[in-house]
Amino acid sequence: MAACGAAVEAAYWGKKYGVKVTLVDKAALDRSGAVAMGLSAINQYMGLAGRAQNKNTVEEYVDYVTRDMMGITRQDLVYDIARHVDSSVHLFEQWGLPIWKTGEGKYVNEGRWQLLIHGESYKVIVAEAAKNALGPENIYERVFILEPLLDGDRVAGAVGFSVRENKFYVFKAKAVLAAMGGAVGVFKPRSTGEGLGRSWYPPFSTGSSAYFTIRSGAEMTCQEVRFIPVRFKDAYGPVGAWFLHFKSRATSALGGEYMVKRRAELEKWRPYGLARPIPANLRNYLGMLDSVEGKGPIYMRTDEAIARLAAQGEGDAKAIKMKLKQLEKEAWEDFLDMTISQALLWAATNTEPEKRSSEIAAAEPYFIGSHSGASGAWVSGPADLAPPEYFWGYGNMTTVRGLFAAGDASGASSHKFSSGSHAEGRIAAKSAIKFILENNVQPDVDGAVVEELKARTYRPLATYEKYRNYTTNPDINPNYIRPKMYMYRLQKLMDEYAGGVSANFTTNAPSLERALELLAFLREDAEKLAAQDLHELMRCWENVHRTWQAEAHVRTVLFREETRWPGYYFRADYPEMDEKNWHCFANITWNPANGQWTCVKRPVLHIL
Ligand SMILES: Cc1cc2nc3c(=O)[nH]c(=O)nc-3n(C[C@H](O)[C@H](O)[C@H](O)COP(=O)(O)OP(=O)(O)OC[C@H]3O[C@@H](n4cnc5c(N)ncnc54)[C@H](O)[C@@H]3O)c2cc1C
Repeated sequence: MAACGAAVEAAYWGKKYGVKVTLVDKAALDRSGAVAMGLSAINQYMGLAGRAQNKNTVEEYVDYVTRDMMGITRQDLVYDIARHVDSSVHLFEQWGLPIWKTGEGKYVNEGRWQLLIHGESYKVIVAEAAKNALGPENIYERVFILEPLLDGDRVAGAVGFSVRENKFYVFKAKAVLAAMGGAVGVFKPRSTGEGLGRSWYPPFSTGSSAYFTIRSGAEMTCQEVRFIPVRFKDAYGPVGAWFLHFKSRATSALGGEYMVKRRAELEKWRPYGLARPIPANLRNYLGMLDSVEGKGPIYMRTDEAIARLAAQGEGDAKAIKMKLKQLEKEAWEDFLDMTISQALLWAATNTEPEKRSSEIAAAEPYFIGSHSGASGAWVSGPADLAPPEYFWGYGNMTTVRGLFAAGDASGASSHKFSSGSHAEGRIAAKSAIKFILENNVQPDVDGAVVEELKARTYRPLATYEKYRNYTTNPDINPNYIRPKMYMYRLQKLMDEYAGGVSANFTTNAPSLERALELLAFLREDAEKLAAQDLHELMRCWENVHRTWQAEAHVRTVLFREETRWPGYYFRADYPEMDEKNWHCFANITWNPANGQWTCVKRPVLHIL
């Protein structure tokens, strides 16, 4: 989404000032990234111009995000996105996205900030506008961006390879905008062999934004703030419409309504625990406490919610029946718009939501700075809002000159979602064009470095060719490791030592140190990754990207000696929130010159 927003904006300014703009995607833009399957709601819309049922202010949104993130957020960035986001949504509608409307023609609000959409083709519509703006000659699809190119303290471009043909790409650039999404598959998923690849986050987001910015030497922020969504169990169907639109309750099998029964627990996490809405991680946490005590499964009371809403309908029995039918239709459409697999699971298990509750569960951890996580690069704020500590000349520029980030790639500005990511892409692109015009020198790209990168890129293919006949089963070979096995190793160590599902999302310093030890062995073995074909070559590098995201995460969780986001992770050795010492950002940088990682605290400076 961020790249599509960037494409539209950069094409406009690029044409005006004679700057060439190129977009590269490892997949096909129409169906790539987290919105590939479509969405049933736009999660960030302010309603500033009165076009929706709800009218909010930007300040209210910034306040909500701050509380939801337990006080740790960059208000300047959140404010900047919120004041621009409505215009992105208006463009979506202009481009053909059907948004639900009331009889009076207002957008229907699902929740305070959310709009309901018929969103099966959301990404196709947004991508079409991006393609029209840039022109096909400037778009490279199915090219996997592998590594940044640097010229001293400045980014100089990127290299990548085609996942369909034998082509290596060198993109030389005066500015680069990283918008390659977040990461899934760093932790072991709940679905392993029987449903491998099934996860909340689409499996093709593999940490490339984090890898690219870390390897450029950019300072990273909130790498500890992973996101764990609670979703319908096993197919990860969205719960937002159920909680917000259908006003459903969640209960555990033995414990009743945990949000009510465990309310006293929220006191411990004050002032954030007392905020309304209750922060997402704390809502997770209360349900997790029931699960840990063996009171599961946890249920979404769909039957109860539908019955209550139908009964509220006016008129005779026939009218109530019609209302019931409409509610059922909306329930199924919610899944068919964005998580078709959940509709399939319901159909396969004879689930009639109006008759029977469905299980919900906490998913495995993901890195998605645009949603309710916060991980990403530390970027400059906007000139008119950012305090001096947060401003270094160009909005959304990372600490590496010429390298910009947006969407999941930029950190500490959670809750931008699809619409806000698009808006942030536009902001970052405009800023990048400004940087180019004011620093209009072509950076140097060292030919020897490019040759070395090319050899490294294709090494897994050569390794496989060299050794594949050593054994009869290509999966078992002492000379190499295939990407799937490598991924299993990464996921197992993260799950067990960094607080995954099987560790009840709990960790401590000795476990994290053990994770680092095992990550070091894994990185050694990354040199022996083997690929049978170009598709597997992509799998190899996706896993290397994931590994760097994993290491940045483990190091930052270790650095922050407190528990601030229970429900996302719990430090058993520091089980409490420590406002005095840790009301700050925990930032981390990898130095390309010497390979050293450094963690620092940065102040939280609120502008409201
Ligand atoms: C399951 C799920 C449900 C969601 N529900 C909602 C919702 O209901 N409403 C809402 O508003 N938001 C929702 N969101 C959030 C929204 O989808 C994201 O905020 C948004 O897509 C982030 O935009 P982005 O550009 O950062 O990443 P993405 O949209 O994921 O785009 C990343 C792009 O990078 C490309 N890429 C990745 N790696 C590479 C590489 N190495 N080389 C080249 N290209 C690469 C991908 O192919 C993709 O095109 C949801 C997200 C998820 C995961």
